[in-house]
Amino acid sequence: MIQAIDTRFDDIKREREETPRRIEKLKGDLDLLRKAMDQDLSTLEELKEGRRKVERELEEMEPKFKKSKSRLNEVKSNKEYEAVLKEIAGLKELIFQKEEMVIECMEEIEIQEKECANNNIRWEESQKEYKGREKEFSQRMRELDKEVQSLNEKMSALSEKVDQDLLRRYNSLRMYLRGQVVARVKDFVCQGCHLGIPPQQYNDLIRGDSLLNCPNCNRIIYWGGNNSQ
Ligand SMILES: [Zn+2]
Repeated sequence: MIQAIDTRFDDIKREREETPRRIEKLKGDLDLLRKAMDQDLSTLEELKEGRRKVERELEEMEPKFKKSKSRLNEVKSNKEYEAVLKEIAGLKELIFQKEEMVIECMEEIEIQEKECANNNIRWEESQKEYKGREKEFSQRMRELDKEVQSLNEKMSALSEKVDQDLLRRYNSLRMYLRGQVVARVKDFVCQGCHLGIPPQQYNDLIRGDSLLNCPNCNRIIYWGGNNSQ
């Protein structure tokens, strides 16, 4: 009974240590998501800035293009005429390329905007999940606190009834074994350390006259029957 309470104490201790770690892990995931979102947002800004730059360049080319066209009417020689035509063709090609760039930019911006919108949805969901879990965890911690309190009460009630000598032995064993103190012996094997019990001690154990300790791990042992019997 005392052993069962102690085992439960150990479980509770483990869970109390693990819970904050689990919260930390969730928080870390949230931080990573936030970073990815910021990255996506700045990529979007860069794309928009790139589009504005190309659009400005296009605007600047407009008067140049017009000027070249009007020069066509002023040229005197064929040679000059051809040179201006070539210049116009070159400008047209450049304008075409830049317009293509703007269209590409717009498509990328659209994709990136969708990604950012999805990020926001994901963020909302993750936040909600995190808050829910946090609440769940702190509720669980309160439950564990309550359980510890009631276990403590049970333990002190039990300790008064139990043989004080046995209790002392149990407690000192527990201090250095950290965990199970009482172990079953089955087929000559201590179930605490999984090592064999010498035949003489095994026979003593079966007789059950006195309280025995495992010669290997020192746990208080009791006979749990044979498989063959
Ligand atoms: Zn043992």
